[in-house]
Amino acid sequence: SIKTINDLPGISQTVINKLIEAGYSSLETLAVASPQDLSVAAGIPLSTAQKIIKEARDALDIRFKTALEVKKERMNVKKISTGSQALDGLLAGGIETRTMTEFFGEFGSGKTQLCHQLSVNVQLPPEKGGLSGKAVYIDTEGTFRWERIENMAKALGLDIDNVMNNIYYIRAINTDHQIAIVDDLQELVSKDPSIKLIVVDSVTSHFRAEYPGRENLAVRQQKLNKHLHQLTRLAEVYDIAVIITNQVMARPDMFYGDPTVAVGGHTLYHVPGIRIQLKKSRGNRRIARVVDAPHLPEGEVVFALTEEGIRD
Ligand code: ADP
Ligand code: MG
Repeated sequence: SIKTINDLPGISQTVINKLIEAGYSSLETLAVASPQDLSVAAGIPLSTAQKIIKEARDALDIRFKTALEVKKERMNVKKISTGSQALDGLLAGGIETRTMTEFFGEFGSGKTQLCHQLSVNVQLPPEKGGLSGKAVYIDTEGTFRWERIENMAKALGLDIDNVMNNIYYIRAINTDHQIAIVDDLQELVSKDPSIKLIVVDSVTSHFRAEYPGRENLAVRQQKLNKHLHQLTRLAEVYDIAVIITNQVMARPDMFYGDPTVAVGGHTLYHVPGIRIQLKKSRGNRRIARVVDAPHLPEGEVVFALTEEGIRD
């Protein structure tokens, strides 16, 4: 099946190179291009441009669908339990495949613990809330702890070494490296269909450090949006749950989008998905709130961070 522009049937490498040089490096950009523009920009015959656009649209399944088709597609979405019944309830069953889910919140609010727990829980059989799958863990802050994985696996009565073996870990050292890792993931996940979860903890810290302040906002935003779209696409194409984390201050943070946006303005512009805000409560209690999810009711729940992992 067609997953990148390199897979377009009957299109030579020379033409593919022309497309890339002209800025049409993804199926998405091709699918929404006009045949005339594409033909001129890439220096290819109009008929070739038309053919390429049609292939890209077919590959992305861009067409009218009936509501029933949409329903059936949605029913294929699978869920991974968080370990807390309350939190699962808030998420209508757990973290979804084919979707990017963002956990955002202040330091210590439980983002990294949730990433660890889901990397373990994805391995559970479906009847226990997992997908019998593997996890990819991209760590940008150096906060991954194998000891936590051991504790969580043990608490679930799982084979510890087996669980550890099913988590592919990589430390991303800067934004370019982080982006390159996700570029390469396409190959890894297409070769290993048992990968059902991709974690990026945190997705924003390198971008924040390397592109500080307002003067860098435009370029930072552009790079980050592209990165997030790529992650979203991996989720959709390979039926994977993607989790990203984003540390935000207790005050309204101006990291995403327009810095003039007021309170609550840390929105992932243009990027679809589910956003969950985490807040500290008393002791080991944490509060989770779903923010502007199209299909989930608004509300908040309390869960606990324990030695064994995420619990009620
Ligand atoms: P962040 O949102 O900054 O990623 P974390 O997910 O790292 O936050 O959460 C840190 C919190 O997790 C700690 O403050 C503590 O409450 C809890 N925690 C971490 N390790 C353990 C453990 N071994 N046993 C119990 N709770 C733990
Ligand atoms: Mg963390």
